[in-house]
Amino acid sequence: MILILHTDTDTQGDNYRQLLEHLSHLPNIKARLHQEVGTLQTLTEIYLIGDTAILSVADMQALPCVDRVVRISQEYRILGRHTDDRRPTAFEYNGVRFGQDTLNVFAGLCAVDNPEHVEIMLRALRDNGQVCTRMGAYKPRTNPYSFQGHGKTCLPYVFELAGKYGIRVIAMEVTHESHVEEICAALEQTGQPTGVMLQIGTRNTQNFELLKSVGRQKQFPVLLKRGFGITLEESLNAAEYLASEGNSRVVFGLRGMKTNMGDPHRNFVDFAHVPVIKRLTRMPVCIDPSHSVGTRDRAPDGLLDVFHVTAQGIIAGANMVLVDFHPAPAKALVDGPQALLLSELAPFLEDVRIAHSAYEQRCARCAAT
Ligand code: PEP
Ligand code: MN
Repeated sequence: MILILHTDTDTQGDNYRQLLEHLSHLPNIKARLHQEVGTLQTLTEIYLIGDTAILSVADMQALPCVDRVVRISQEYRILGRHTDDRRPTAFEYNGVRFGQDTLNVFAGLCAVDNPEHVEIMLRALRDNGQVCTRMGAYKPRTNPYSFQGHGKTCLPYVFELAGKYGIRVIAMEVTHESHVEEICAALEQTGQPTGVMLQIGTRNTQNFELLKSVGRQKQFPVLLKRGFGITLEESLNAAEYLASEGNSRVVFGLRGMKTNMGDPHRNFVDFAHVPVIKRLTRMPVCIDPSHSVGTRDRAPDGLLDVFHVTAQGIIAGANMVLVDFHPAPAKALVDGPQALLLSELAPFLEDVRIAHSAYEQRCARCAAT
């Protein structure tokens, strides 16, 4: 059961003390505080865990400070959608809104290789009206001898260049909690020119200690990729780990499943799950067409498969697109074969716009009937 308190409830005040006192006497029930600090207001919630079936919603609603009560019947306590659940499905970070009703494109380098390529990429994004990007500094590689990413050494120039070109949010994978500290330090050192969305990759979806430590920090929102070989339920529980530790600014990313049934794509494209995740949870949903398709193959209609699956995700309501581009894919140190060319950036964004407009028309038609 969740008690949603009145906005800006004073957690030092008498009413709040009385509420906690009452809750502490409920048998076999533990109360856990959860706060979402927004720019305008703070949302305070209390999660009641244990024998909550015996509690009446009306009784709990009558307690001091309580605005609304949500009885949780399913999994994903914090991030899930529950009966009578009017909790937000969006959050804002560094001036950019992420929600189940928005669409943000994160085009950029799979892996940072050098300052020239970063700058060419960011300039192209700025010239095409973009404020988000992807930049991999820490790369989890299958082969221990492959390039592992430049790590913290590239962060200062990546952040400075992002600031120079008006980029507000960079999706950046972390594979260890020390990477979060390095990102914090580099942002500090460069004067906070941009923001970072921490990415947890598909190989770490069930790295529970990483999830817990990234969940404990609240400075950065998190993009959690679905595990490529586990069930959707297991991946959604992984997202709940982040929220259970305190960070519920989580975007859920689909990136294809590891099975040869999806050949000739690198992974089996799972974007049919976009509406399912929006139904089960309050998280914005990201699609990653690059790691799903993994090639620059083109259909007879002239469109690259990457364009096709992007449109398929967006027409089904996806809220974020993470996509690999590179100014010189032949020179890319990671995933060159799937990178789009800079000359394809404007057509890609136009294709995204067309698919999004089709999605909006579909929603309008549905609402009108
Ligand atoms: C990535 O986005 O660079 C990446 C490695 O993705 P995934 O974890 O989905 O393989
Ligand atoms: Mn990659």
